[in-house]
Amino acid sequence: MKKILKFGGTSVADGECIHQVGSIIQNAVADGHTVSVVVSAMRGVTDKLIKLSLLARDGQLYEDALSIVLNIHEDAILQLGIDADFELVRAFGDLSGLINETLGECPGSTDDFLMWKDELLSFGERFSVLILTSFLKKLKIDAESLDAREVILTDTNYGDAFVHYQKSYDRIRAYMTGRKKVQVITGFIGSTEYGNTSTLGRSGSDYSASIFGAALSVQEIEIWTDVDGILTANPKFVDKALSITRLTYEEAMELAHAGAKVIFPPTMIPALYKHIPITIKNTFNPSAPGSRISHDRVLNGEITVGLSSVSHVSLIRLQGAGMVGVKGINARLFTCLAKNGISIMLVSQAFSEHSTCFALKPDETELAVQAIELEFEKELELKYIDKIKVESELSLVAVVGEGMQNTPGIAGVIFEVLGRESINVEAIAQGSSKRNISFIVSDEHVQKAIRALHRRLFERKTA
Ligand code: ASP
Ligand code: MG
Repeated sequence: MKKILKFGGTSVADGECIHQVGSIIQNAVADGHTVSVVVSAMRGVTDKLIKLSLLARDGQLYEDALSIVLNIHEDAILQLGIDADFELVRAFGDLSGLINETLGECPGSTDDFLMWKDELLSFGERFSVLILTSFLKKLKIDAESLDAREVILTDTNYGDAFVHYQKSYDRIRAYMTGRKKVQVITGFIGSTEYGNTSTLGRSGSDYSASIFGAALSVQEIEIWTDVDGILTANPKFVDKALSITRLTYEEAMELAHAGAKVIFPPTMIPALYKHIPITIKNTFNPSAPGSRISHDRVLNGEITVGLSSVSHVSLIRLQGAGMVGVKGINARLFTCLAKNGISIMLVSQAFSEHSTCFALKPDETELAVQAIELEFEKELELKYIDKIKVESELSLVAVVGEGMQNTPGIAGVIFEVLGRESINVEAIAQGSSKRNISFIVSDEHVQKAIRALHRRLFERKTA
């Protein structure tokens, strides 16, 4: 079978972990699979490189921060008993060089800085790939490194670049033609048409894996991480969280957007179009089945698959007698927010049109209120719209499941559970796909809400 195996930062955290990764790859090869491997930076390295970029930009002492990054890799090299080959030594030198060159006169404008920062961040994946390749060779696996900048083409939105799929697919296929060795590929990075390095967004290595999988029409994408897959709820809240064995791309996307951090949401797109199943597996517990995301998941009577939540959000309420039946209020509201770059996490408007509320990140509330006050200055003055209300310390909770689309009464079950626990619901929204029912409760109540719902929706079946 043709497969992509992707290993996240925690899977390559140190020499010992990389050992484990080596045996997973070895087993896959021994089982006769044709594998390509995608790797993230070693654990914590991207964060450390970000810190380093800020120090360098601000002309501060950066040497210690740089040594820490280099040491993480040198330690792994020692632990694995591999040689730091020429390419790796050169890459270490290139990183120091990049910082030295630009120090103090570091790209002034934000755009230049973002471009430079992407170049700096790319070293995390470049190092981990070189180390893993050397180690695989030591295991007698015929492997070679591929710097994804050679094949993944993106726009110039540095830090969160958009991938040109077709051109990238063409380049990947051309590159791979005739290559027999196991390719060990950098996740997270690509390059622009001008040849500059770009990155695909934090946690973007999953996405890289999916892009390579789609380009190569593999039969399976395996995302190896440090948990047993996507769980029915955040294990911080629920002791009995179970791993969800099968789910659809849409369910996985809904859960990922609503806080379940196991997979980077855009990852689903290339896989979904090509119907390539994605399996999430635990590097440190490889025999656990993990979670399989696929097109053909059969509903075995499951109505809901999981709960997820995001805490510490704020809610802004816009209401007033002057809003009823007036056209264009929402358009103006959302346009003024969008113009200020504010992202909205949930929206709810009652049928009476008397009020609209939406959830957002707390650090964006001040800007949002200012923008709304400016947009609705006249209405506020005339009291058509009441003073804008902001509530904070709230949590968004999403109940997700394909089966909810055709199951009457599920909303009733959810809100009855919350009622029984005396939990006050601040706002409710149902995704138009009907596979997501979301609501807002106070941060103080979120654990109680999730526990009670988990007991009712997931633990009864297994009891
Ligand atoms: N190394 C990058 C990050 O930490 C990409 C990844 O890990 O997927 O965001
Ligand atoms: Mg990571």
